[in-house]
Amino acid sequence: MPDTITVWEKDPALAGRLTTVPVPDVAKLPLGFRFIPAALPHNDDPTTAEFRYWTAAATVRRAADFWAACSQPPDRWRHGQVLDVYVDRGKALQSAYDGQSLSFYHGSPAGHPAIVVYSGESPDLLCHELGHAILDAIRPDFTNRGLLETDAFIEAFGDMSAILCAMQIPSYCSALLEETAGGNFWSSSSLSRVAAQFGAAVRMEDPNDADVDCLRNAWNEHLYVDPVGLDGSGPPDTIAANPHSFSRVFTGAFFEALAGMLSVVVGNNEARPEDLQQISREMRDILVDGAKGASVDARFYASVAAAMLEASGKYHGGYPAVFQTVFDRRNILPALIV
Ligand SMILES: [Zn+2]
Repeated sequence: MPDTITVWEKDPALAGRLTTVPVPDVAKLPLGFRFIPAALPHNDDPTTAEFRYWTAAATVRRAADFWAACSQPPDRWRHGQVLDVYVDRGKALQSAYDGQSLSFYHGSPAGHPAIVVYSGESPDLLCHELGHAILDAIRPDFTNRGLLETDAFIEAFGDMSAILCAMQIPSYCSALLEETAGGNFWSSSSLSRVAAQFGAAVRMEDPNDADVDCLRNAWNEHLYVDPVGLDGSGPPDTIAANPHSFSRVFTGAFFEALAGMLSVVVGNNEARPEDLQQISREMRDILVDGAKGASVDARFYASVAAAMLEASGKYHGGYPAVFQTVFDRRNILPALIV
């Protein structure tokens, strides 16, 4: 086994975007993992099971370490010190967190057997499911309430975890700044497009279950509406009353606020990779503060947003105005004030 391994940076759809990292210690505490199978030899060929295995191992280790460094970190998973990770649990077009384990699968869209997608090789999906486990450790009372907004926030937290964890890779931050050079960070980019490879497969099965260019794009204009009366599913340019669709309202506000934070931090200067890493750490802490401070009720989005707005001032005097503007514009926050 070499000292370093090469793995995907963010998503297999970003062909060629690989990063070389130290061999991860998945069992390290806090927030340890037990991988099933226990270990495979390494292989730098991205088409191999060995490559996928080590991408999963390196990605969840990096993601857990990122969340473990937050302002109010969980010291264990909801049900113990160690979380099981099934890198390829069988045939399905899905990935899952069930309270005890993270499970990833391989599957093909109906009618397209030649296309095989491994959910466990996408850092976006790995960090999405890991985000579920982190939030469940921080606020176990959010789970299984039978409320659309709490379920949707859980899904948004997964996508926000994917975005923030990708920003921990300096080479990816540099590539992203080149990609968005001359444009606005608040734009459709490889960062905002969560799980592009998996989204393409899902879209072949049902165009209503994925955005047009990825699974869910954090760059969106979805505004909050009372979910009562919304249809249960609909085309991707509409919001529907199911957790994945409705999550895009919160994730969109988050990504818009993240862009606002970057403007506050860099002013008229060009953004640097370290600026992206700074705002990602601060947004992580604001999110955790918001989740900790939220009360579970029917207007849950507003409760989290108010707690994030209040917490944001701890990190920069210019942040509360950013969050106020975004949450107002998205119709998320005023409901609490009325
Ligand atoms: Zn999820």
